[in-house]
Amino acid sequence: MMTELINNAEQNLLHTYNRYPIVWERGQGVHLYDLTGKRYLDFVSGIGVFALGYHYASFDDALKTQIDKITHTSNYYYNTPAIEAAAALTSLSGMERVFFTNSGAEAVEGAIKAARKYAYEKDGTTDHEIIAMEHSFHGRTMGALSVTGNPNYREAFEPMIGHIKFARFNDIESVRDLITDKTCAILLETVQGEGGIYPAEEQFLKALRRLCDERDILLILDEIQCGMGRTGTMFAWQRFGVRPDIMTIAKALGGGVPVGAFLMTEQTAACSLKAGDHGSTYGGNPLATAAINKVLELFEADRILDHVNRVTPYLEAGLDRLVKHDYVIARRGFGLLQGLVCKGPVGDIILAALEKGLVLINAGANVIRLIPPLIIEEHHIDEMVEILEQCLTAKES
Ligand SMILES: *Cc1c(COP(=O)(O)O)cnc(C)c1O
Repeated sequence: MMTELINNAEQNLLHTYNRYPIVWERGQGVHLYDLTGKRYLDFVSGIGVFALGYHYASFDDALKTQIDKITHTSNYYYNTPAIEAAAALTSLSGMERVFFTNSGAEAVEGAIKAARKYAYEKDGTTDHEIIAMEHSFHGRTMGALSVTGNPNYREAFEPMIGHIKFARFNDIESVRDLITDKTCAILLETVQGEGGIYPAEEQFLKALRRLCDERDILLILDEIQCGMGRTGTMFAWQRFGVRPDIMTIAKALGGGVPVGAFLMTEQTAACSLKAGDHGSTYGGNPLATAAINKVLELFEADRILDHVNRVTPYLEAGLDRLVKHDYVIARRGFGLLQGLVCKGPVGDIILAALEKGLVLINAGANVIRLIPPLIIEEHHIDEMVEILEQCLTAKES
């Protein structure tokens, strides 16, 4: 039955993904089940979306309650869940203004527009420049793609939006070299996700903050993958005490309901997007924002951050044991966003793990990415390490 469905999919879907040969039927906790009933331990969580796993506590009930009231208004009116979600996010981030989107890429689009508008308001000119990072990932729409530091993703779609320059990540001199009087923003992921799980270094982030302050340039941090408690603080930059001027979030924000947001400081907002400058039909709809509210409520009530910080050393120790394999070079990452850097491609290891009931994903060709639900327990980590151990041993023999 699964093969038939997969053939059907391949006949009708646009072939933009090389998918693994599995049709998921349902999830429960940190496990996924395919159509044959086979159970898998999930270390992908829908790429960092299911921070609370599947069907966590009263999350579903909160959605159902909201569905029975209203799921969409329009941004020409107010709705209670959006008002509450905006207040909760400003309080958690210490930033002052929120715009809701439906996805991560849209949040990045908004951040780019906000930065250009900020610079335009200041000097009345256009053609301002943004410095982004090599090996970054910010999404697939034209604006987000323009700041994504992977030429393979961009080439066929040129021309990109103009005046984007790429600096080397964690190399402050390479950023400094690109700054001109036209630079309006520096954009980066606090921990690069798709590019291979590269955390920003504290010195680098602090130097960027100083540079931005000196030159009145906006610091934009993309926390779409590394935010929402994933690295042990609500937002990864909070670990360094470096507050951005604009932040993008999505993925885990809605706990499985599509949603994103960009936030900015009051100082930035005062000189940026105004009425008529930006909008979205669905963005901030009551269903999506009810999901945000419930996610944030459960994070707090069940002390999810404490849990992440409690299990992180255990995960790191388990992964460090795997680094002893010949094929594995290093472990990189923070919290429950970790990468095992390998000597070559990891595709066959991921397939072998799937076979054994463990769901993993890569980050670039040579890195196994571990991005489990944040509610993962030590015995799940043991199981993951055990299976990966077997897969690596089999590969090396
Ligand atoms: C996933 C991701 C995006 C894009 O989000 P979509 O919801 O897929 O548009 C942007 N930035 C980062 C860092 C991401 O991980």
